[in-house]
Amino acid sequence: MRVAKKLGWAAGVAGVAGLAWMASETTQNVGPDTSAAVQTTRTKPALPTVPVTPRMLLTPGEGPRPLTMPVEGIDPSTIHDSFDEMRGGDTRRHDALDILAPRGTNVVATDDGTVKKLFTSVAGGLTVYQCDPDQRYCYYYAHLDAYAMGLHEGQILKRGDLIGYVGTTGNAPKDTPHLHFAVIRLDPDRRWWTGMATDPYPLLYRPR
Ligand SMILES: [Zn+2]
Repeated sequence: MRVAKKLGWAAGVAGVAGLAWMASETTQNVGPDTSAAVQTTRTKPALPTVPVTPRMLLTPGEGPRPLTMPVEGIDPSTIHDSFDEMRGGDTRRHDALDILAPRGTNVVATDDGTVKKLFTSVAGGLTVYQCDPDQRYCYYYAHLDAYAMGLHEGQILKRGDLIGYVGTTGNAPKDTPHLHFAVIRLDPDRRWWTGMATDPYPLLYRPR
């Protein structure tokens, strides 16, 4: 609701300048876009576009750990890398993967770590933020149908532990259950909601 209210305010009071502000705010948001998860046609609004966040450049040893496919039964070679696709009327980059699977499919921890936050948002629906053991990276799982029984903040996770189930909560199309999965390199202050997205795809799938 927060974003919808801002949009109304922006359109009504500040016009184009307000919309530009909204678009730039959205780009910095770690949360999912996902409304266009499987959308094939988009109308291009007359909105000013914002610069795309540059891909993160890492020095050796600084990158995230290898990840386990967070949706059970999915072959990593079959997923589509939608990290660079533009969403939200071409105002921001997706910055995540959409992993399609039947509703109720198990979602498991992609790495060891800690449940940092369980959060419900308009866009992401039921979400989990998990930090890696070094608290350098945060893994973000969105649109869950439900959490695993007993899942709680502060819980220590092992790679492969059940955390929830694939669903369509938030703004996911109701007929296209999927996991919106993001990997965020946290800012130095280690707040779970701020950081820079890195493409999970090469961490999940390495062609031979
Ligand atoms: Zn998505």
